[in-house]
Formats: sequence, C-alpha cells, structure tokens
Amino acid sequence: MALETPSADAESGHRLRVGLSGGIGSGKSTVAQTLADHGAVVIDADRLAREVVEPGTPGLEAIARRFGSGILTADGSLDRPALGQVVFGDPAARRDLEQITHPRIAERTRELIEAAPPSSIVVHDVPLLVEVGYAPRYHLVVIVGASRQTRLDRLVTHRGMDRADAEQRVDAQASDADRRAVADVWLDNEGSVAELRSATQELYAERLAPFLANLVRGVGLETHEVPGPVEMGRLTGRLAHVLGEDLDGPLDLDPGTDSLLVPLAAGVPAETVRERLARAGFPAVGRGRHASADPGRRVVLTLREHPVGGDG
Ligand code: ADP
Repeated sequence: MALETPSADAESGHRLRVGLSGGIGSGKSTVAQTLADHGAVVIDADRLAREVVEPGTPGLEAIARRFGSGILTADGSLDRPALGQVVFGDPAARRDLEQITHPRIAERTRELIEAAPPSSIVVHDVPLLVEVGYAPRYHLVVIVGASRQTRLDRLVTHRGMDRADAEQRVDAQASDADRRAVADVWLDNEGSVAELRSATQELYAERLAPFLANLVRGVGLETHEVPGPVEMGRLTGRLAHVLGEDLDGPLDLDPGTDSLLVPLAAGVPAETVRERLARAGFPAVGRGRHASADPGRRVVLTLREHPVGGDG
C-alpha cells in the first residue's frame, strides 16, 4: 500500500533521518527493533498505511465513497482483498486510491518525525523504499540483506507462509542490485540473529550516533576519500533531491583537491543553499565548502556558483 515521507524541506530540526529497508524476510524488523532498543524513534510505514484506513477514519470513508461499500467487510473495516481486486490492473483506480492514502500517510509521518525529540535518530522502516525511490530523502539508507533462498526459508519456517506465496512476494520486490545501489549501509543477515543485532549495535555506536552529534553541532569532517562511482550516484541523487533546481547538472570530481564540484544554477549564490546542505548532512566548513557529517562517508563539496555573465 501507499508509503510516503515528508520532503527534505519539511521542518525536521536536527534529527538524523535513516531509511531502513530490505526484502521481505530479510530481517528488517529485527534491525528496527534493535535500533529502537538503543533509543531510535522507529516509524513503521506499513503500520501507518493500515492506520490511515482504520474504521472510523476519514481515509476509509473516502475509499468507501470512491469504491463503494463492496470494499468493506461486514464489520465495517477495509476488505483488502476486495479492494485489491478493484485496483488490480486498473491504473486510474490505483491512482485514486493513492491520492487518498498517500497524503494521509505523509502527514502522519511528518507528525511523528516532528514529535521525535529534536536531537534524535528517526528510523523510517519502509519495505518498498527502493521500489518507490525514496532513498535520496534520508541522511542514510540502511538495507538488510539476505539471499533469496534464506528469505524464502524464513518466511516459510517462521511466518508459516506457503512457499509459492513466499516466492511470489519475494520476486515481486526490487532486486538486490537495485537495493545495493541505494544502500549506504548493507547489513548482511545470513548468520544468526545475535550477529545481526551486534552488527546493528555497531552501526548505531560507530556511525549513527556520531553522525547525529556532528549534524546537531554542524560539524563537517574534512578528511575525505575519493568516492567510487556507486557512491557518486548516491550523492548525486541526494544533492539533486536537496537542491532541486538550484543544482545545475551532475557533480564532478575536482582532480586537484579530490573534492566534489557542485554546480549551482544561474543566480543561486552558495549562501542560499548553505542551511539546506547543513540539514541534509553536509555542514559548511568554509566559504562555499561543505563536508559530510557522516563518519562513514567522507566527502567534501565545493559549491561552484554560476559564472556571472557566463553562458555555460
Ligand atoms: P522482515 O521484517 O525483513 O520481513 P523479520 O525481521 O521479521 O524480516 O525476519 C523474518 C523472520 O526471520 C522472523 O521470524 C525473524 O525472527 C527471523 N529471522 C530474522 N533474522 C534471522 C536470522 N539471522 N536467523 C534466523 N532467523 C531470523
């Protein structure tokens, strides 16, 4: 069902927004729970998707108005299979449904993020994060990975799912290649639950907590590494999301300094994007220079203002 997050421009204080995903049966819920045990605020996208269409909600009323009372069960709750039948293979119906649910989920998500303490780690648990292209909205994307076979075995053994049903669900989701492309962190879950918990704890202590501290204090880390092509793709996606039309084309590596040149659109002074970049995890470290607050991603950005009178 529908999943939404607020835009990066939404007022979100200095909360570290972490997107968490992984294929069904990968162990995502286990990671979310471990992060919650450490004090992270976890927002469960699937749960919100259900909440906004509970009996008595304006969401369910709107759905019944649009699709008729045939999508309600005898006790007045949403009959998901019936609704599924109606929207299956009917893009217009699906769009209508999403227009009802998406804004409501987005609003609830925004409320929950704003209700989180100002200097906190907010983990958005979104099963379809990769499929819907939300990765650039977060400071960091964590993917829990396990092979197809392992996921199927878990769904059958632990969740009592029928194998054919499990296969269908697993195969309908994004591929591991797509997940790898957006994963800032890949938590492998082929071992034991204890191993997954300990890897998650390490992630929390060594990356999330210091990232949040740097974000809150506006500290960019200037010792940097040259990003590889995949990392470069993720950075481009993130900056395109944060800067929108103020970004003028792809990032470029400056061979002299190993920093990334960020071309700004005509008439956009570096000063006007300073705060936005800082909130997105790249605090200013000098005039037109920003550096990542993430100890696991050392990049320096050099903003390149559009040359006055230039035409390129
Ligand atoms: P997801 O939220 O990604 O669908 P879960 O965290 O619910 O996955 O894990 C799916 C099932 O597999 C659960 O029953 C969980 O307890 C179990 N599980 C998760 N990780 C492991 C593991 N490393 N070894 C054995 N079972 C696991």
